[in-house]
Amino acid sequence: TDTPVTVIGLGLMGRALAGAFLKAGHPTTVWNRTTSKADQLVAEGARLAPTVGDALRAGSLAIICVTDYRAVHELLGASDVELDGTTLINLTSGDSAQARETARWAEQRGARYLDGAIMAVPPAIGTAEAVILNSGPQPEFEAHKSTLDVLGTVTYLGADHGLASLYDVAGLAMMWSVLNAWLQGTALLRTAGVDAATYAPFAQQIAAEVAGWLPGYAEQIDSGSFPAEVSALETDARAMAHLIEESEAVGVNAELPKLIKEMADRSIAAGHGGEQYPVLIEEFGKPRGG
Ligand code: NDP
Repeated sequence: TDTPVTVIGLGLMGRALAGAFLKAGHPTTVWNRTTSKADQLVAEGARLAPTVGDALRAGSLAIICVTDYRAVHELLGASDVELDGTTLINLTSGDSAQARETARWAEQRGARYLDGAIMAVPPAIGTAEAVILNSGPQPEFEAHKSTLDVLGTVTYLGADHGLASLYDVAGLAMMWSVLNAWLQGTALLRTAGVDAATYAPFAQQIAAEVAGWLPGYAEQIDSGSFPAEVSALETDARAMAHLIEESEAVGVNAELPKLIKEMADRSIAAGHGGEQYPVLIEEFGKPRGG
């Protein structure tokens, strides 16, 4: 807990990160464009640095968490900034290409660079619920893991700096898919007077059951072979048609079921109707019509 830490960017998230380091007893130096956002942290014992360069000189471990990568480059590109010898952990949200490009940029300036993604809201920082994903050189991650642990559940994904961003968006895809499917079903049932709270436990059970299929289906994808062990894609496509018809008949939105069926139909047209659902990875793995 005596490792000095620098936190650059004191928005909602940056303040939560710096607060967690302070609470754990780390000497914490902070910098923010709008200095007043440091007031509370300074009252709790943080040191407010006058410039980004000065903040980075305070120690060898620096976290940056600002709006976007453009702001990261603007701040770290300043003339008094010396990155040589610094371990920089960028927890700013961005895409995988930005992460890889920023890694090259920082490494050329002598920094050791880890990219990260925060899958949590600021009040969760400092608790186990806050999942923080990291990618980049493993020795660097290992060297700082115990310091990062005060932020939440810190996970290392691999050497490719783009992985944290990719896992981040993959998680969003999963979250919205589950929520949208639940909303579709809720809209259908409400037409018959069933309220959302009545359907929610059913939906939860189905989501859990489907989630249980993933490891087995993943084996099919990784082996590139999709025998229809439980159901063929054409059988699923007939059920999709049924979902569309029912949605239209009771007057609820059918856009999402139609989109799902369009993808299945393309896969069937490509000759995969007799194979199992995960064969759709071939549709997901390329641009539309590609
Ligand atoms: P805020 O809008 O609260 O804070 C943005 C921060 O970026 C402020 O410190 C702001 O400085 C700084 N900033 C933006 N542009 C510049 C610039 N050009 N130069 C200097 N500083 C700049 O956002 P959050 O703290 O909520 O989010 C920060 C990052 O964390 C984002 O990438 C976000 O996606 C990610 N994140 C946030 C979550 C959340 O729930 N809040 C959840 C997961 C990830 P100033 O105060 O001067 O405006």
